[in-house]
Amino acid sequence: MSSSGPVSPQSPPVDGGRRVVPAGPEGMIDRAVASFLGVAVGDALGATTEFMTPSEIREKHGVHDRITGGGWLRLKPGKVTDDTDMSLCIARAILEKGTFDLRAVAERFAAWLRSSPPDVGATCRKGIRDYMLKGQLVSPPNEWDAGNGALMRMAPAALFSLGDDALFERAVIGQAHLTHNHPLSDAACLCAGRMVHLAIRGEGRSRLRREADALVAAHPDFRFDPYPGEASGYVVHTLQTVFHFFFSTRSFEDCLVGVVNRGGDADTTGAIAGMIAGAYYGVAGIPDRWRKALDPAVRTEVEASGAHLLRISPAFGRPEAS
Ligand SMILES: [Mg+2]
Repeated sequence: MSSSGPVSPQSPPVDGGRRVVPAGPEGMIDRAVASFLGVAVGDALGATTEFMTPSEIREKHGVHDRITGGGWLRLKPGKVTDDTDMSLCIARAILEKGTFDLRAVAERFAAWLRSSPPDVGATCRKGIRDYMLKGQLVSPPNEWDAGNGALMRMAPAALFSLGDDALFERAVIGQAHLTHNHPLSDAACLCAGRMVHLAIRGEGRSRLRREADALVAAHPDFRFDPYPGEASGYVVHTLQTVFHFFFSTRSFEDCLVGVVNRGGDADTTGAIAGMIAGAYYGVAGIPDRWRKALDPAVRTEVEASGAHLLRISPAFGRPEAS
């Protein structure tokens, strides 16, 4: 199904598992809220196990399944990291302008970098600095840019562009190339964004699987079945981990617990899994203890922004103003 076209009420698909799929526009807004909430929940949950190995996690936590903070950043419980921070930069820029304005996104990133956040990926830092120093909005292609930094923050660009595939590509790739310009990062961003769109529209697991399989067919590096077991910041490892646990579990909670217990770049794999699984399972699928454990200011903003971004999307009848 194309993600183009107007919103129309539809019957809840039968998909087994623990998924409830409310139909119509309100159901879609619920899943958009859950997608952005999923980014923050996955980030906060995974920050605890970032850079750990699965066996180190087992030894220290048994199964890590609570938002407790800590980790190498020594976060307070419920705090989030660059994944959510940068997503919020994009959301604020879109909502401020009412459209996707790349310079407005770059300005938000620059203000965020000037605030001296504790965790900035090297490629993100370089891209933002190049904007600050040279006004550069498109990083030149670079073989080292296949990290997951563009993928981890793209949820707002996907939510806002539902219903217009050209706008979707412009927004998702535009924000990506501010810092990451690599074909595998681009392909990962587009695939994940299409999966978010399909899930918001209420499509079932097999339809999302076709999207993941198409990515693997185009770029066999992404093959995730059987799961290779790497969960690093390389966008290929990141998406393999997310896909493996998304497609082999039947709830938001099981997907996220599986992902963050692989360690590695766990806050980012958690954020990306949360984005896709949130859009798929909806707010009711996100454990209340995780939602409540989030920093209240972050929770309030991601929930409001998720709904707002979808309401101004072309799918909700708003033509793109550019
Ligand atoms: Mg992070």
